[in-house]
Amino acid sequence: MEKICVAVRVRPPTPESSSSENGSSLWKVEDNRISLHKSLDTPISTASYAFDHVFDERSTNACVYELLTKDIIHAAVEGFNGTAFAYGQTSSGKTFTMTGFETDPGIIRRSVRDVFERIQMISDREFLIRVSYMEIYNEEINDLLAVENQRLQIHEHLERGVFVAGLKEEIVSDAEQILKLLDSGEVNRHFGETNMNVHSSRSHTIFRMVIESRGKENSSTDAIRVSVLNLVDLAGSERIAKTGAGGVRLTEGKYINKSLMILGNVINKLSESSKLRAHIPYRDSKLTRILQPALGGNAKTCIICTIAPEEHHIEESKGTLQFASRAKRITNCAQINEILTDAALLKRQKLEIEELQMKLQGSHAEVLEQEILKLSNQMLKYELECERLKTQLEEERGKQKEQEQCIKEQQLKIENLNNLVTNSDFKKNQSEDFVSLRTRDGRCNVNDSSGFPGTPCFESAQPSFVVARSNYSALSDFSPMVDSLGDVADEDTWTKLNKGFVPDLDQLQFTPAIKRQPTPLTAATTECSHENQKEVEDLKSQIELLTNEKDSLQVKFNEQVFQNNKLMGEISELKEGMLHMKEIPKRLSESVANGKEVYKNVIVTMKTLMAEKEFPTAKLLFGVTGITTSLLSTLESQFSMILDGQKAGSIVDYPFYDQWETLRVSLKNTASSLVSDAQAMNEILNSHDKGQETAAMEEKLKSELSILAERYNELEKELSLDKQLLKASRESHGRLEKEVQFLKEERDSLDVAISQSTQRLRVIASDKENALKDLNVEVKRRKEMEEEIKQISFAFSSRQKSLMSFHNEIKSKMQKLTTQNPKLK
Ligand code: ADP
Ligand code: MG
Repeated sequence: MEKICVAVRVRPPTPESSSSENGSSLWKVEDNRISLHKSLDTPISTASYAFDHVFDERSTNACVYELLTKDIIHAAVEGFNGTAFAYGQTSSGKTFTMTGFETDPGIIRRSVRDVFERIQMISDREFLIRVSYMEIYNEEINDLLAVENQRLQIHEHLERGVFVAGLKEEIVSDAEQILKLLDSGEVNRHFGETNMNVHSSRSHTIFRMVIESRGKENSSTDAIRVSVLNLVDLAGSERIAKTGAGGVRLTEGKYINKSLMILGNVINKLSESSKLRAHIPYRDSKLTRILQPALGGNAKTCIICTIAPEEHHIEESKGTLQFASRAKRITNCAQINEILTDAALLKRQKLEIEELQMKLQGSHAEVLEQEILKLSNQMLKYELECERLKTQLEEERGKQKEQEQCIKEQQLKIENLNNLVTNSDFKKNQSEDFVSLRTRDGRCNVNDSSGFPGTPCFESAQPSFVVARSNYSALSDFSPMVDSLGDVADEDTWTKLNKGFVPDLDQLQFTPAIKRQPTPLTAATTECSHENQKEVEDLKSQIELLTNEKDSLQVKFNEQVFQNNKLMGEISELKEGMLHMKEIPKRLSESVANGKEVYKNVIVTMKTLMAEKEFPTAKLLFGVTGITTSLLSTLESQFSMILDGQKAGSIVDYPFYDQWETLRVSLKNTASSLVSDAQAMNEILNSHDKGQETAAMEEKLKSELSILAERYNELEKELSLDKQLLKASRESHGRLEKEVQFLKEERDSLDVAISQSTQRLRVIASDKENALKDLNVEVKRRKEMEEEIKQISFAFSSRQKSLMSFHNEIKSKMQKLTTQNPKLK
């Protein structure tokens, strides 16, 4: 366990502030202490803080690197995880510290160079280095080395731990290559202008190096070391009012402040004593989730808190120092991360067995204590695994609930849409009724008794009406000559005849043409209504499609529920398996204890015999004791080896499985050697002259041996049972993992389908809205037209009547004239 290393760095005052604020800083730095002074140089007792290092304004990046980060970087090359990050308000010098300039490079560039220099110095190991560069902008993770990788997700893996899926990792061979990558990544960073820092970064950036190494010789038997080095430049905390941010800047500021607040919460929780410590909210932000191992986990971590010396930044500076004080209380437990190959595992276990054997020869109690400690650790690990599975299940359940909710919402939307369609159908029927009525009326003649105002047939009325204006003579059957009409029918007569209604004939002729399509009205109306009908039909079919989609989603959802239940069943099976597993060491301990009892009995018997008389058999008994001791020590050492194996791997580890096999074989060998020794002893005993006493002792010895053999058989049976159990739990775990994966994929595809159908629904809804609007416009237009037609027909009929009466008048006048003057005939 080691404490996080915390340092504070005060940046020099800006030229403007040093001229306006009389030049003397309020923050005084003495050794590793920073304190706040009043302007008259009296210290304020409540504002004095001590840290691992405090760098004043004259400090250089080289100095910061040397004192603060160098050790962590070197440890990273050795296989320890390492993290360095800069925290502080905007413009306090975080980027200056982490990135720096060409003349005074920051921590990142110095680390990169140092890593490669260090590697050069280690001649017996070979290294593989991968780098990635990401930013967290508005709580979204973007890849700075591949701009197309946006909105990346964080995942957790049993072996890999927390990782960002899809992040580009470049394999690099020298420092210059990394520096170029850093430059190209820098171009993709989000910068913004706020009042406080013209080039202030609006995202947290994480530069990550994964350092893998293994021994050059015996590479097949050596473990591979993997360490992760995170170098983080956080976005600055800021008070919105002070930065004058608005719009996009304001949103960014809110995200930045939120994630820094969560970082503060995490630090707060971690700084509490481990007894008081409750849940650590790592999952509340992407930043804390990624930095999880660096905060209270397996990493060597240093934090550099930067403060601005100006008087108007005092509150922020105090806040930063409080953050730093809390961070100082965090302890981490860094250890070398090794991946063991089978050969390396064997080699290591061999060493451990030897070590244990040495210990066994020393004190038994000590070893047993250690074993018990290991066992309890193992139990703890199983329990943790169980907890992890439980939370994973809970998460899955939560997600399923969300999906259910989503499907319900979709159903509701579809129902709403259906209602809309029904309404529009109703309106459409109304309009169809209207159209049919209109058509019927259009076709009936003027004297139709339907009660609807008599309208002449449209198809014939319109051309005849227009023609009547220009070529009246063509209608000589019922109309007077056009010339005489021009003389007689003046405006006043029209007014009189039309009962005050003065139709503007030009307008009558042109109005329909302006307002309608060039096709005849009835045809246009029918076409329009057909279009509407078609649209409604389309909408209906789309809704049907959506309903089908919804059904299929429902089916998928049901399947998922079924899968989940199955998964639950399997998890409980696995738990049962684990319970059995937990009992294995206990049972083995019992067996070993029994074996020891037997062994003690043998020794006691031997001692009694030896005290009574010295027989050649006694020597043989010593031999048997040796064999028994070897059997027991083998059992014990193998047993501890298994426990170590359990500690190193999970239930499904192959090496662990192999250990059981080794134990079984080893026990078998020991037993067969025991049997052959016993046979040899028998032969020796047979070749000697046996007294009655010797025979009795021999009998006793034989019975002891058979007890031992029985114990061995029992042990072997237990082992094979355990082996089966292990195999079964390994298989079910594998299945479980596959199913979880499958479920995740299913869920993702469901998410995609749901979002697609939501989009489609939106489009349909807007289409529908447009169609409804069009329908309303059409209805309004028709009403207007109907009104006009009424007026036209009224004018037309009155005009026809007047023409008829005029015609009759002329006729009667003509008749009169012919009767008066028969010559005219
Ligand atoms: P932050 O990243 O915290 O927002 P910067 O690192 O961009 O702030 O620093 C703001 C300004 O202050 C920059 O112009 C930078 O050059 C300057 N600065 C910061 N720290 C120092 C320092 N220790 N020495 C000299 N100049 C500094
Ligand atoms: Mg910055």
